[in-house]
Amino acid sequence: MARALLKLRGVEARYGRFVALQDVSLVVPEGAAVALLGPNGAGKTTLLRTVSGMLAPTRGEIRFGGERIDGMRDYRIARMGLAHIPEGRGIFPGLTVRENLTMSSNVGGNGGGVKRALELFPVLGERRDQVAGTLSGGEQQMLSLARAIIVRPRLLLIDELSLGLAPRLVTHLFDTVARIRDEGVSILLVEQYVTHALRLADIVLIMAKGRVAFIGEPGELERDERLVESYLGHAGTASYAIAEGPAPAKRKARARSAKRTAARKKRA
Ligand code: ATP
Repeated sequence: MARALLKLRGVEARYGRFVALQDVSLVVPEGAAVALLGPNGAGKTTLLRTVSGMLAPTRGEIRFGGERIDGMRDYRIARMGLAHIPEGRGIFPGLTVRENLTMSSNVGGNGGGVKRALELFPVLGERRDQVAGTLSGGEQQMLSLARAIIVRPRLLLIDELSLGLAPRLVTHLFDTVARIRDEGVSILLVEQYVTHALRLADIVLIMAKGRVAFIGEPGELERDERLVESYLGHAGTASYAIAEGPAPAKRKARARSAKRTAARKKRA
């Protein structure tokens, strides 16, 4: 069994009086990918923010590489080798691609890191003088991944890599995350595309109402439809969630949006 790189024990986090995380305990072993699933509002984003130091836990302890990091400032945790790609992309939209990459290499990486990032995402080399905010959504997500790996993290936290992207691009990004994991970087990711998450993950965690409701291997989840139904969807839609993609709530929202677009086109 690989050593624990990240360990949470009895963690609680609050927004004012609202308790968003309760008694959360989990382990991310060295070199493993852990997927964090769960319905909207379950506390997944809050968990990543608490680990990376954006939000201070109100109880419990968090250890990274054996050292206590709960209560530590986010920039100090980042320096220890923990990179966080937040929901909605961690880039500087007003700077060029080249400037975004150089800033990362100044913070904690080196020229070799930029070269590796451009090998993984050649399109960023072609677009190096373009302002990052004008890149496509997929290219922006590639840039945020590239920026994160340049600092050579030991642990990468990724929040909704697939948000708003076409399925083909999502597959490409997940393939790249798998390569990064195979090079020894541990991954903790929040993801709505259950299929991709299960394919990548060594360990799956389901959160519900701020608590960890399930920890196991992806196979256990794929074999137990009832478990998936109870946490990730309603009867009849669970197998679709596993086989086809996003959790039902987000799929419904997308279907509604597609309907609205079709109606607009009809009117035009
Ligand atoms: P989603 O899949 O919808 O992104 P999530 O599992 O990531 O959900 P969180 O964003 O962690 O959930 O939110 C957990 C709970 O904390 C929710 O009830 C949310 O409304 C609340 N919350 C999140 N951010 C804040 C905030 N800044 N202030 C107050 N409450 C918040």
